[in-house]
Amino acid sequence: MSQRELLLVLSHAHGCSACRERLLSDPAPLLRSRPLTEAEKSTLTRLKFEDFITPELLAHATGCTMAELDRYRDEPVVRLRHL
Ligand SMILES: [Zn+2]
Repeated sequence: MSQRELLLVLSHAHGCSACRERLLSDPAPLLRSRPLTEAEKSTLTRLKFEDFITPELLAHATGCTMAELDRYRDEPVVRLRHL
């Protein structure tokens, strides 16, 4: 089971191209203040543009399941709050 904070970041970045760009180009400042484990930060830092093309690829790249990503997509905090 993946952690909530990781899924919040992934779900938002998947749906928001502006935040996805920032996560891919300069992840450190964006992740620093978040309650993520070192392993989760490292996973997020390694993501590439291609990993966001489909939910399957994103799940594969992050060790999350598609069901987990799905469950977070409609959370208000994911839809309304930029990273
Ligand atoms: Zn955003």
